[in-house]
Amino acid sequence: MSSRKPAVGVAPFADRLLAWYDVHGRNHLPWQTPRSAYRVWLSEVMLQQTQVATVIPYFERFVARFPDFRSLADADIDEVLALWAGLGYYARGRNLHAAAKQVVSLHRGEMPNDLEAVQALPGVGRSTAAAILAQAFGARHAILDGNVKRVLARHAAVGGWPGTPKVAEQLWAISERLLPTTRLADYTQAIMDLGATLCTARAPACARCPVAADCIAYRDDRVSAFPAPKPAKARPYRRATLLLVENAHGAILIERRPPTGIWGGLWSLPVAAEGESADELLRQRHGIRVEPLDTLPAFRHAFTHFELELTPLVCALIDNDEVPAEVHERPEQRWLTIGPRSDAALAGIGLPAPVLGFLSRRYALNATHDTSTPDPCPAPSTASSSGSKPKASRVRQSPATLASASTSKSRNRPGPNGSRTRPG
Ligand code: SF4
Repeated sequence: MSSRKPAVGVAPFADRLLAWYDVHGRNHLPWQTPRSAYRVWLSEVMLQQTQVATVIPYFERFVARFPDFRSLADADIDEVLALWAGLGYYARGRNLHAAAKQVVSLHRGEMPNDLEAVQALPGVGRSTAAAILAQAFGARHAILDGNVKRVLARHAAVGGWPGTPKVAEQLWAISERLLPTTRLADYTQAIMDLGATLCTARAPACARCPVAADCIAYRDDRVSAFPAPKPAKARPYRRATLLLVENAHGAILIERRPPTGIWGGLWSLPVAAEGESADELLRQRHGIRVEPLDTLPAFRHAFTHFELELTPLVCALIDNDEVPAEVHERPEQRWLTIGPRSDAALAGIGLPAPVLGFLSRRYALNATHDTSTPDPCPAPSTASSSGSKPKASRVRQSPATLASASTSKSRNRPGPNGSRTRPG
């Protein structure tokens, strides 16, 4: 195979790649100057499942507010998640905070220079740990993110889906064999850049590729056959009701979501799972009684493992004249007054992008950070345009759980250009 042994008269893979990188590589990314372990780690976590262009503004805001492990470890999780909001995959934001605390408590605030210790940090898998050490310290470790898998699967014509342990093992072995002995930081960036900019998923530019001379897939005109796609599996579809509770003071109810499950730890409008009674949920969780007023058109949001159709239901507090706005303030709930400055207030809270998008549309706000705009879809048959009480919200049934951990994809679909298509 070409990745195992350079063809006669062809320079080693790493030499060709580095020569290309010196001219065409991305060597002015914000986390490369200065290339501290903290900045490299932060960028690596942000780049999991997200493209470089998307990450850059988030990275810059993050390091401006949290310049090192200690400042991040000392921060309130709400502030961390607010800065993360819009990047999706919120477990990464929570892991980032937990990892900073671990670095401070176990490693005196310095990134350890040891693969095992780095891999033990929350949210850091084998490839991410290797990328951090290679780029921050020039350590000799192979990486295998989604882009690198694609490059190596094509170059060596490795069949099978890289998600299977057997194929992944083959690719790890190749990645290790190709490592140079010097310039590990540049090499690591170079092989990621090759996958992100030339050996892309949909339009590989083989004619300009520095390792085309011994690429088996290219030689055999079978580039599109590698890597083999993940075996198809239908993505389940779920429905839920987004509860917009307004009181007489013009405030809306938000709650902090449980730490696990969708939008874990973020503030959100309450969400009733399909079949779950809105009245019951609000009474039990927030001690309030409501009257459904209006069902709004549903919209969809895509998660990694399922699609969610959210139907907003506007509710009014019953006897709310007797309920001052502050009466129900509890640690896990807030009443937010919607007014002229609400856009800034909402953006600062760290609401999930589709919820922020919905509120922005409903109240004609200008959210100050990037929100994903869910694809509109027709309201479901149970939803009426106005004044009805949807059956699903009035009948108590076993709630379908929304708590299975999953990851938002509305703005972070794995992309061919610069995204890390698999975390870890
Ligand atoms: S020649 Fe084409 S398929 Fe082979 S590594 Fe280069 S870009 Fe990828």
